[in-house]
Amino acid sequence: MNIILFGPPGAGKGTQAQQIVDKHNYFQLSTGDLLRDEVKKKTDLGKQIEEKISKGNFVSDEIVNELLKNTIKELKFRDRIIFDGYPRTIQQSKNLDIILKEFNQKIDLIISLHVPRDVIEKRIEGRVTCEKCNTTLNKFFNEKEIEMHPCGSDRFIRRKDDNSETLMNRYDIYTETTKPVIDFLAQKSFFHQIDGTLKIGEITNKIDTFINV
Ligand code: AMP
Repeated sequence: MNIILFGPPGAGKGTQAQQIVDKHNYFQLSTGDLLRDEVKKKTDLGKQIEEKISKGNFVSDEIVNELLKNTIKELKFRDRIIFDGYPRTIQQSKNLDIILKEFNQKIDLIISLHVPRDVIEKRIEGRVTCEKCNTTLNKFFNEKEIEMHPCGSDRFIRRKDDNSETLMNRYDIYTETTKPVIDFLAQKSFFHQIDGTLKIGEITNKIDTFINV
């Protein structure tokens, strides 16, 4: 069962994807992570990508589609991929169907996390990532976990694109460009919207009921 997880920036997509990975042995395919990996390589392509990401703008469909295809081609996981941050445009949605068909697979479940704008803003403002183990925590909600972090690190960094201005841009781009994709996919029988303001565990339980059918 391949899954698409939708939600505006800060909706908790990454957290839920991680739960699915751990519980059901899935591969989390985050295009944001793929792009950040490319940036780390400091290639010309990486520099081009960094410029877009730092402003909260979309990287071109061409680049993202290519990175996605190369990743799926190499994957040992079959029918256990969770797409996080992709598709974000109609073109990407069509492309996903084509790529999956090529590898004899399809999308079986779509989850959309719904979180109002004011809640998202607070979440993003507090978001920090552990430099060592890459865990994401929130300085408003996870004070203790940040002070006594299990991996032993005390170096938490903010993602470059986690500032209010970029956030507003990312949120607006999400509503403008990705919402039409969601509205289009919402017609499918395997599409489910979940209230993303519920507790993490409650959301996980809801998702589990769809995965376990
Ligand atoms: P994310 O980690 O999913 O929040 O993505 C971080 C940033 O990477 C986004 O704000 C975009 O600039 C870029 N990005 C990630 N996925 C895509 C995608 N599917 N299409 C275009 N740009 C993307």
